[in-house]
Amino acid sequence: MAELQNCPNCGTLYVHNIFRDTCENCFRTEEKLYDTVATFLRKRENRTAHIDTVVEKTGVEKALLFKWVKRVD
Ligand SMILES: [Zn+2]
Repeated sequence: MAELQNCPNCGTLYVHNIFRDTCENCFRTEEKLYDTVATFLRKRENRTAHIDTVVEKTGVEKALLFKWVKRVD
């Protein structure tokens, strides 16, 4: 049986799996934001950007950035 959970972002009920900790909608939204950040960091002059600069330039929440950093670890 699939495990149902409430999305921590929007509260929607969804089927939880190990690759996703949010519902389909939030996952897609997050993926787009991730792309924005990845594109930003791919530029040579942005490689050493401080996290606050990344937040300022991409508009992505700091909490989300930290979540991605943890995922890479
Ligand atoms: Zn959601």
